[in-house]
Amino acid sequence: MNDPKADPKADRKTDPKIIVALDYPSAQPALDIAGRLDPALCRVKVGKELFTAAGPALVETLVARGFGVFLDLKFHDIPNTVASACKAAARLGVWMMNVHASGGCAMMQAAREALADLPQRPPKLIAVTVLTSMAQSDLADIGMQGSAADVVLRLARLAQSAGLDGVVCSAQEAHALRVACGAGFNLVTPGIRLLDAAQDDQKRVMTPRAAIDAGADYLVIGRPITQAADPIATLQRIQREIA
Ligand code: C5P
Repeated sequence: MNDPKADPKADRKTDPKIIVALDYPSAQPALDIAGRLDPALCRVKVGKELFTAAGPALVETLVARGFGVFLDLKFHDIPNTVASACKAAARLGVWMMNVHASGGCAMMQAAREALADLPQRPPKLIAVTVLTSMAQSDLADIGMQGSAADVVLRLARLAQSAGLDGVVCSAQEAHALRVACGAGFNLVTPGIRLLDAAQDDQKRVMTPRAAIDAGADYLVIGRPITQAADPIATLQRIQREIA
């Protein structure tokens, strides 16, 4: 169980690979499930819904409880605005944050430089390439040339050249991105399901072990953990599977 007095840096010592998605409409259920997790075993992800409802105070509470927080707000705006937003997020003490690679190289570089100025160790800054909800026809509609796989690769390379630490990608894309971007470029993959478990609304899923074998560094996992009867036992089971 989570001990609020636990060493807040415990997560950094062990570098947990599992990021539990806290997809909740308000602070209380998110804090309830966080209380059933262990910051030495996982990080947590706060996305647009929870952040819009519960705000920076929730992020600070999770950080104070020792969790590495991935602030998944997918910034996409002019470089100056994104840089300032990234700085504000970093001041909350988050471990990772993200921007849209389609915001362009100047925007990503501005975000990177804004974080480099900070007195504390900067959060990891990663990019979203192509949302997995976008079909080929959606890409064509917004003028993106080439197959989805080509666009993902192009945007991942752009993110890397702008100095970002990695990208969010599907586990199916992980191998090609690892080959293209090399070791040390963080691949963060959602769409993870345990063997024989419900897929929910995810269409293309991979098991934790298969995703790690494909080159993923961090696994974003929501409902398989948050809706488990015993979240900590499920976390431990996944840890063993990927160890
Ligand atoms: O519950 P589940 O494991 O499906 O949650 C996955 C999390 O990853 C959710 O927060 C979802 O929004 C996020 N995500 C995703 N697919 C992407 C990008 C993010 O499922 N391509």
